Amino acid sequence: MLIVGNGKLVTRDSKLPFIENGALAIDGTKIVKVGTTPDLRNLYKGADYIDAKNRIIMPAFINTHEHIYSAMARGLSIKGYNPKGFLDILDGQWWTIDRRLTLEQIRYSAMDTMISCIRNGVTTIFDHHASFGHIKGSLFTIAEAAKELGIRACLCYEVSDRDGAEKAKEAVLENGEFIRFALKDDTDMIAGMMGMHAQFTISDATMELAAANKPEEAGYHIHVAEGIEDLHDCLKKYGKRIADRLMDWNILGKKTLLGHCIYINSHEMDLIRDTGTMVVHNPESNMGNACGCPPVMELVHRGILTGLGTDGYTHDMTESYKVANVLHKHHLCDANAAWSEVPEMLFKNNAAIAGRYFKAPLGVLKEGAAADVIVVDYDPPTYLDENNINGHILFGMTGRDVVTTIGNGKVLMQDREVKVADTEKVMAKCREESAKLWKNING
Ligand SMILES: [Zn+2]
Repeated sequence: MLIVGNGKLVTRDSKLPFIENGALAIDGTKIVKVGTTPDLRNLYKGADYIDAKNRIIMPAFINTHEHIYSAMARGLSIKGYNPKGFLDILDGQWWTIDRRLTLEQIRYSAMDTMISCIRNGVTTIFDHHASFGHIKGSLFTIAEAAKELGIRACLCYEVSDRDGAEKAKEAVLENGEFIRFALKDDTDMIAGMMGMHAQFTISDATMELAAANKPEEAGYHIHVAEGIEDLHDCLKKYGKRIADRLMDWNILGKKTLLGHCIYINSHEMDLIRDTGTMVVHNPESNMGNACGCPPVMELVHRGILTGLGTDGYTHDMTESYKVANVLHKHHLCDANAAWSEVPEMLFKNNAAIAGRYFKAPLGVLKEGAAADVIVVDYDPPTYLDENNINGHILFGMTGRDVVTTIGNGKVLMQDREVKVADTEKVMAKCREESAKLWKNING
């Protein structure tokens, strides 16, 4: 039994949203009680105790779109790389990296990303992986790192014909094998999806192969209309919009997650909503790749389950929150935009998306919920309660303010010390492996 107490407890549970001197009790992997600190300490005498020292206790973050494969790109300058558009960014940077990743480099990319997640208070991720040099076993390698570090992960490999039909087939089979493995696992810490890069790199034959190898319990995780080129390709090759092509391949549905959705029209939004399909928005990535601004406010207003991800750009969900907040105000020239929509995406919708793959309630501190909890070192200069906590997070917190991270009942970091890895050793190994990768890329 573990009590985390003596903090301003923000639960995200409408029945008991805030306790000034709050605490929660954890037994195994679940929260068993939420209350005041004196009550809980009295109730569970002898329990281990983490003193939040009057800081903020809140649910750990969920990131619904990550890219572990991008970890070793930090600081890399690729010779001759001078992108003229989104397709050049993909081919010149990301595909150049992923084609060369070894299994060891995949492992350390995962270790780096997940340690950074722990430091930023993220305990659940949806990753979209590619490593066309080493496809087989890549998801299992990432899953091992997730298990070692205590991160809850929904994984997939991005199927694509960009390196030929054989590799596309290998990618489909990796997804199928991994999904079946994850379905048999009863820890509620690992899940799998049929990953697809984007429709413009996937032929009809590969669509068919993916459908044939996908267990029905899983959905797809696919980039949609991230660049205008994806839409043009679909119109030219198939004479239809992207969501129509996905609908025709039975890809839309409650278990499917669409990344980006920048160039979709009203009819496609209807299809996405009517099929209960999920969408994930990645504001920094869209801006950084000069891809455009997706109609995210409209997606949320139409009732489409829209979450917030980072696309590997950062592992700090508060950063994604801050950028989404200003992006949509700026884009719509509407100072009222995004105040309620973005926190809804980050706190409520990401939890709902995770809920379609994991059983225990996430993103909420209440009896029976997964014990995924963070303590944030934030001393508010103004009054704080459940009604204005989002304003405090938006303008006052960053991921690096997280001091303690608990995932599925396990203390992953306490007082900024990562407990589940020798981080100095891991980072040294990351630098060693990334140096090999960079040499392989630039010669
Ligand atoms: Zn992505």
